[in-house]
Amino acid sequence: MKHAAAFITAAVITAASAVPLITGGTRIEYAATENTLTSLGSYLLGEGELEYGKGDFNHDGVVDGFDLVFERKYVTEYSSKLPEGMWVGTGENGVRLYWFSGGTGYIFGGGAAQTTDFTASVTDSRFTFSSGGSTAMADIVWNSDDSFSLHWDDYGLEAFSPAGDTALLPSSELTGEYVTSGDFGERSWKFSGYTGSCNGREFFWLPEGDGIKLCWCGSTEYGDIEHITLSRTDKHHFTLTYEDGRRESFTRREITTVNGITYVNGIMIANKTYALPSTYNPGALTAETQTAFNEMKSAAWSEKGLSLSICSGYRSYSYQSTLYNSYVNRDGKAKADTYSARPGHSEHQTGLAADINYAGSWFDSTPEAAWLAANCWRFGFIIRYPQGKQDITGYKYESWHVRYLGKELAKMVYDSGLTLEEYLCIDSVYKY
Ligand SMILES: [Zn+2]
Repeated sequence: MKHAAAFITAAVITAASAVPLITGGTRIEYAATENTLTSLGSYLLGEGELEYGKGDFNHDGVVDGFDLVFERKYVTEYSSKLPEGMWVGTGENGVRLYWFSGGTGYIFGGGAAQTTDFTASVTDSRFTFSSGGSTAMADIVWNSDDSFSLHWDDYGLEAFSPAGDTALLPSSELTGEYVTSGDFGERSWKFSGYTGSCNGREFFWLPEGDGIKLCWCGSTEYGDIEHITLSRTDKHHFTLTYEDGRRESFTRREITTVNGITYVNGIMIANKTYALPSTYNPGALTAETQTAFNEMKSAAWSEKGLSLSICSGYRSYSYQSTLYNSYVNRDGKAKADTYSARPGHSEHQTGLAADINYAGSWFDSTPEAAWLAANCWRFGFIIRYPQGKQDITGYKYESWHVRYLGKELAKMVYDSGLTLEEYLCIDSVYKY
């Protein structure tokens, strides 16, 4: 259906005019009816003339038998076919996203910065659209199985193509909350499938080659469509490069609280900002963490003859409370806060953190520490408080403290070179 593709391109280019033209200026008749089928058949049999501009259903500039075949398939056979799924409509109302599902659906974008629910039906290629008590009608013309147009009775043509997916970042994965930094300053984005908002301004997006097309709502101007190159770093990060060269880095940051426990993108967090409730008590390292440590211990021994052991694993809220208070009594609160967590804020309470061999700077220069730093990601761990990142993690360098994240995430964090706080775009500062 190459002609159909050309037709859509032409329709998009000239959507603002009432009578769309294909390249070369041939007039297109969109509103096909049973009458034109009869007259096309008669015309091809040499029994009369066609009205000017009619009959060229496949838009190749010639009225011939192919048009009759085309018309029978897409006009007659599809005279009661309703679209299904996500479609993009381009016309005088700008670019709009349509979701069709069994005669109901919604529109997003175009002149209205909101979602409009509708019901739709098709009889004899007449498309009836109802929303909020008002009804609009259009002729629906299928140009191929994956393209159709609506010729609205009151405001012209709208050409439709399916909303595809990009392999780089499918709509199912581009969901959730992101914070950004870059040439636009800090912005807060929400994505939900194809729709979303940025600092409260609504948009929808569509795949476009290796990038995305971002369509801002509340406007019918084509200038409000941005063509953006997308490069993906990992599951939680991607970068957009705008047409004018400006860049914006996206970090997924979805903070949820379940039973007082904070999760960021589903990852349990205990740091100086986020505390665990006193009731959270796994009782020991989680089974997964213990298994991963055992695997790491075997590898360190078999690969390098290094011996790893856990000197402190799970610590309860009450134990941490006793520990912290004893440090405060000895060194004062300000100093204690630099090396010991307040109760609820210790990562050891998660059951996902462990101190290896010796919890002190003596461990820093050991071959075990070097091996741990280079290899713990392979077993699902990260060095949680790296050197020089005290302002970000809230803790001095701890070569011995590892946090279990699972192999996939630990590798992504390790590869990023970021601390967990930077990776998730969160802070670690006592707020009290
Ligand atoms: Zn520790």
